Amino acid sequence: MKDLLKEIQNCKKCGLYKTRIMPTIYCGNIKSKIMFIGEAPGKNEDETGVPFCGRAGKILDELLNYINFKREDVHITNIVKCRPPKNRDPKESEIKKCGCFLEKQIKLVNPKIICPLGRFSSKYILKKYFKKSFEIGEVHGKVFKVNNIVIIPMYHPAAAIYDNKKIDVLKKDFKKIINNL
Ligand code: SF4
Repeated sequence: MKDLLKEIQNCKKCGLYKTRIMPTIYCGNIKSKIMFIGEAPGKNEDETGVPFCGRAGKILDELLNYINFKREDVHITNIVKCRPPKNRDPKESEIKKCGCFLEKQIKLVNPKIICPLGRFSSKYILKKYFKKSFEIGEVHGKVFKVNNIVIIPMYHPAAAIYDNKKIDVLKKDFKKIINNL
């Protein structure tokens, strides 16, 4: 993991390195059975290097707490490691270039369950394993099994900031983690 951190810290593969303060690589356990993959860092993450440390992070903590887990028990990361300016969506080209780090990270962590959070990471992970695109609205909470890995796509926790009903959907989907551990 040390080598990977260095590689990401020195990376200039896409233009996002120019505007970031620091890359946001991961938090939690590097040998966890559960890996959460978000989309890209926001302002708070860019300033601290810690993924999910703002409002969406509080919701993620609440969801982890709901299934009796803490951050230290799981591995949390994003597909894109540097903040897109003004929190715009990550571009296809940025996801493609940064994806190689995520690939290495998945190999190092070797999780039993991968939960992509949100449409970008769900699309990326499902395409990687199934070579097909799915809409997050159709696949959230569904359990996919491939190569001894369980994949459970979920809405991004930020979705619950603006839509109260999403927290119940997320809680229901998080329970699937426990059922598949
Ligand atoms: S977003 Fe990824 S590919 Fe782009 S500069 Fe940062 S680490 Fe490199």
